[in-house]
Amino acid sequence: MASATQTDSAPHLRASAVKNQEQKNGQGQQQESGRIPPPESSLVEDHFFWTYTEEPHRSRRQAIIKAHPEVTKLCGPEPLTKYTVLFVVSLQVCCAYLLRDTSMLSWKFLLTAYVIGATSNQNLFLAIHEISHNLAFRSPMANRLLAIFANIPIGIPYSAAFRPYHLTHHKSLGVTGLDTDLPTALEAFVLDSLLGKAFFCTFQLLFYAIRPAFVYSPPFSHIHLINIITQFSFDYALTKVSGGSLQPLLYLLLSALLAGSLHPCAGHFIAEHYIFEKVGDGKGTESIQRRKMNGNQTVGANGMPKEVANLPPPETYSYYGPLNILTYNVGLHNEHHDFPAIPWTRLHALHRIASEFYEPLPCHRSWVWVIWTFILDKNVGMWCRVKRAQGGRVVGGSSANAKAGRAGEGISGASNGPEEGDGWKESEIQN
Ligand SMILES: [Zn+2]
Ligand SMILES: [Zn+2]
Repeated sequence: MASATQTDSAPHLRASAVKNQEQKNGQGQQQESGRIPPPESSLVEDHFFWTYTEEPHRSRRQAIIKAHPEVTKLCGPEPLTKYTVLFVVSLQVCCAYLLRDTSMLSWKFLLTAYVIGATSNQNLFLAIHEISHNLAFRSPMANRLLAIFANIPIGIPYSAAFRPYHLTHHKSLGVTGLDTDLPTALEAFVLDSLLGKAFFCTFQLLFYAIRPAFVYSPPFSHIHLINIITQFSFDYALTKVSGGSLQPLLYLLLSALLAGSLHPCAGHFIAEHYIFEKVGDGKGTESIQRRKMNGNQTVGANGMPKEVANLPPPETYSYYGPLNILTYNVGLHNEHHDFPAIPWTRLHALHRIASEFYEPLPCHRSWVWVIWTFILDKNVGMWCRVKRAQGGRVVGGSSANAKAGRAGEGISGASNGPEEGDGWKESEIQN
């Protein structure tokens, strides 16, 4: 098979926010068929990449399974995850306790929080992400409880709440009103400036924490209750054991805030789904295939490699750099969305087996570059997201937008039919 982008399975998106602007100015090219105008309900002038084309992962998954049926054998829990979680939780709790008599404004406290704390808590965010896909144990309940344990050094309970929103992100990528990874038009309108984007990147975690509550509310389950009781009991016990000092708890909270701020590992939040189509300078974002073929040569007139310019604008980007070691390979995001039932340790194997699908896709070389460019480059910003006005569905709850035949994002080894794969089951939300 030649390349994923040349098959019928590839999406055909050719729109961009910049092009949108150009079209408004009468300089743009003809509107592509995959694009629709923004919904009229938008309060502010809307520059998102509206489309009715299907998200690319489902069709690529089907094409990969057809070409390489053996990839389904990579699905299933990874036993290493629970030991990694145990190590990182222990490390963070030890650091918190040891800092009980250290001033919050001291270099020792702040540096530990940034270097060890933020990295550890980002690692735990991504452990919780991994566990949300039932990839630590076979038993759904064991996964829920491990996630609650991994949540401990983050200071505030969130693992139970995160899961339905995240599974819905997979089932409803880009669907407005369902995918809470998408900035709202109001956020984009207010924050699409250098200072606004800097603010957004600095306090990303708060946006991720607060935004979902304004989008929709999944059902509250007893797992949420266990999560809340466990977390606040731990916070209380930690403070008691530390002689009433609040420093350990503040260390954990600061670690969490910094983990989603101007920190190298936080680059994955931006890198995953913001469209960098107009930014590629041949250094930061380009396909592996192109890198192999041409090194640094030929770039397009607008600074973008010509080959990338000819690809459909992707809405998911992978990153294959060294920070994946600290982050459960979350950088392999195209691979993860294609096969959410493949655990972090086997995503590289998926990439190798299906390399002809992944190597033509543009990917990021550096998460630090991603944050830096997102803030400073006018060609990328809050509006650079693909949005869909229809499709998708809430996982674990009823949905007015339910659309038949969209299951299967979690295809597993046990169930490798095209659409009935259930790497997770909706009913598990209640477990
Ligand atoms: Zn994603
Ligand atoms: Zn996921």
